[in-house]
Amino acid sequence: MNMMTSLSVPFADLSWQWNAVRGAVMPDIERLFAANAFCLGKWVTDFERDVAGYLGAKHAVAVSSGSAALHLAVLAAGIGPGDKVLVPSNTFIGTVWGLVYAGATPVFCDVEDATGTIDMADAALRMEPGVRAIIPVHLYGQPADLTAVFDFAARHGLIVIEDAAQAIGARYDGRAVGTLARLGCYSFYPGKNLGGAGEGGLVVTDNDADAAALRSMRNHGQSERYLHERIGFNYRMDGLQGLVLGHKLPHLDDWTNQRRAIAAHYSQALRDLPLKLPQVVHQDHVYHLYVVRTPHSESLHKHLRMWGIETGRHYPVPLYRQPCFAQLPSPAHGFPVTEDFATNGISLPVFAGMSVVQQDRVIEAVRSFFEAGGAHG
Ligand SMILES: *Cc1c(COP(=O)(O)O)cnc(C)c1O
Repeated sequence: MNMMTSLSVPFADLSWQWNAVRGAVMPDIERLFAANAFCLGKWVTDFERDVAGYLGAKHAVAVSSGSAALHLAVLAAGIGPGDKVLVPSNTFIGTVWGLVYAGATPVFCDVEDATGTIDMADAALRMEPGVRAIIPVHLYGQPADLTAVFDFAARHGLIVIEDAAQAIGARYDGRAVGTLARLGCYSFYPGKNLGGAGEGGLVVTDNDADAAALRSMRNHGQSERYLHERIGFNYRMDGLQGLVLGHKLPHLDDWTNQRRAIAAHYSQALRDLPLKLPQVVHQDHVYHLYVVRTPHSESLHKHLRMWGIETGRHYPVPLYRQPCFAQLPSPAHGFPVTEDFATNGISLPVFAGMSVVQQDRVIEAVRSFFEAGGAHG
């Protein structure tokens, strides 16, 4: 029987990416140690220049994580205690930590059925006094409906901060996501589409004053050494991360195209099954995650595990139900689409370097679940 053969498929395997860059990275690490360039320094500065060029942003400020990026972006935008911020309820918790640290309150919104990104019709219903900003998330690698977001923001005078942690390289109206709003944030957590050798993040902006504030805040609020002009943080990027990311960046478009090809293969091979497949509605998709939905997600997950295939859940507990937000006022109405993603969503493996044999194995295993009637058991 097929499941007894031994080809297992991990959810993500970063070794192939590593093999693509190790020859260049290893000697450069010798140089980094020789230069003592451990915190910020030459490799981070070079990476900031390169990634700003790649994205088409005026300023790129490298920081210690995507969560730190969002925290500094919220502060640079002047959002603080008493302010409210519209955010999708279907996202990773890192989207909202920054605004919470700043003393603001999240106003959770439901998401679109087709994409899982913020539903601006629902956001309009939740709009309330005190809302000063909105953080659309380009979830799973697909841009949010930025036309609707900017339209709404303009009508209500809201600041827009993009959470592009899952979508580096995706484009909207011909521009890189993260660069369309006043501030855009990225994560270089190792499993992200562009991942470091540890934690990392980035804020981009075309606004000179925002960029200066971000640079100061990430480095203890210093304008010059030991002069702290404002409350700051230690949110500097490590030199090692700048080095690794600098060597990976030239490969990113190739790796993204591999993700797109894998997704296209899945979508073609699974199209006749009773599954909700990812749909590209907002111009582009870089497939950080390939999320399908079925009411049988739990048994499909177990079935795939028996076949040696790892899957993920993104995200099983919506933010509005997280215990840490229990003190927030109850929303006037529910989050049915967020609940659909939370309960029925299952993420299939997608990673650069995934072999066709591995892809076919995933397809065979998913098909066998439905063909064997697992969906009825
Ligand atoms: C990963 C992620 C973050 C946070 O990034 P970290 O680098 O893990 O702090 C924020 N938002 C989204 C949507 C993410 O996927």
